[in-house]
Formats: sequence, C-alpha cells, structure tokens
Amino acid sequence: MVKIERSFPAPESLAEEARKVNGRYDKQDVIEQLKEDFHNKCYICELKDLQDPNVEHLFPHKNGKYPERKFDWENLFWSCGHCNGIKNNSKYDEGILDCCKSDPEKSICFRLRNSDVAIAVSDPEDDILRRTASLITETFSLKNTGMRIYTSDERVKQLQKEMNLLYKQLEKIHNGSGSKVTMRMIRSMLSRESAFAAFKRCYVRDHAMEYPELQQYVELDT
Ligand SMILES: [Zn+2]
Repeated sequence: MVKIERSFPAPESLAEEARKVNGRYDKQDVIEQLKEDFHNKCYICELKDLQDPNVEHLFPHKNGKYPERKFDWENLFWSCGHCNGIKNNSKYDEGILDCCKSDPEKSICFRLRNSDVAIAVSDPEDDILRRTASLITETFSLKNTGMRIYTSDERVKQLQKEMNLLYKQLEKIHNGSGSKVTMRMIRSMLSRESAFAAFKRCYVRDHAMEYPELQQYVELDT
C-alpha cells in the first residue's frame, strides 16, 4: 500500500446517481478516474494491471444502509476482486488506513521473507494500523477457500518475481556494474506506480547503508 494522489473534482455522475433510488457508483467516469488515480493497481495487494477491478468502499455502505458512503468519492477505492472479497468482513467495517489521506509507508513496513509476507506497524496499539496490517497479510496468506489457495499464492509468486527483478538490478550497483540504464530501471521500479512498490521501497529503505544513492527515490510523502 502506497500513498495515492486522488484527483478532484469528483466524477460528475456520483452526485447525479446519489439522487436516484437505485443509483450506481460505478459509472464510466468513476471507473476511468479511479483507474488512473490508482495507476490501475489494487490499493491493498498492489497487484498491477487488474483484470477484475472492483470499486471498493473504504467504509462499507452495507447495501445502501449508509447511502452517504456509497457515492462519496473519497470513500471509493480501486481494488482487485480477491482483496475486495477478503475486506468484506465485519472485522474491517471500522475502516483501514486511508492511503489517499496519509502515507502508509510512514507507519507500515512491508517485507517479504522467502514466501512469507511480514507487515509491521509503528504502533501496534493503533486499531486502524492493526486492521490494515491484518488485511494486507490476509491478501497474501488467507487460504480458506479453494480459490483463495490459488489467488493468495499467486500474489506471493508475483511479489517474489518483482522482488527478484529488483535484487538483480541492485546486485549490479553492489558490484559496481550499474549504468545509467540500471539507475533508470531501479527508479521506475521504486515509483509508487509500480507493482508491489511498498515492498520494494521498504527493502531499499532497510538497506540504506548499502544504497545511499537510492534513498532519494523512496522518500516519504510530506
Ligand atoms: Zn488486491
């Protein structure tokens, strides 16, 4: 999860649809603006170029029980179906960190150790951080259905693949064979737009002594 710059004004259809009995929050303008703002990446697991994007409500509208949440632009997020399904659990009803309002990297560390995702928070007493870490962990490890055995594993595999690509480039810097092209590639891999950016950025931050020249690419949001 990385900081997302949500664009304003809100898509026009939201206000119109909110006035209807059975209004929709997923008209074309909403989809296009969300897809662009979120770099077509699931805000929870950071899988990129989604084939099954969902419009996710940070605070659930409970089938219209909370209509004000249903059409609130700032409550709409871009996620994959896997994460949306996992988050649709009462334990997450009171909300998770809003990555459009604060930078998740300031309070959460995202690490991969072999095939285990380890999410650590700066304040374990903070309920929002605790729920956010739990949700992200579950999206890589929850295997309570046949499909989730596959989809959670798939996310770990994709994350491992992406981390290995980064390690390969970092190795070049380490042994002194890094060129301008290497630096450009690393810079792009560390951009918030890229897949699993939070994990890659955390790794580079964790290895600040080895890669001082890369710290400029993983700065936190001010
Ligand atoms: Zn996801």
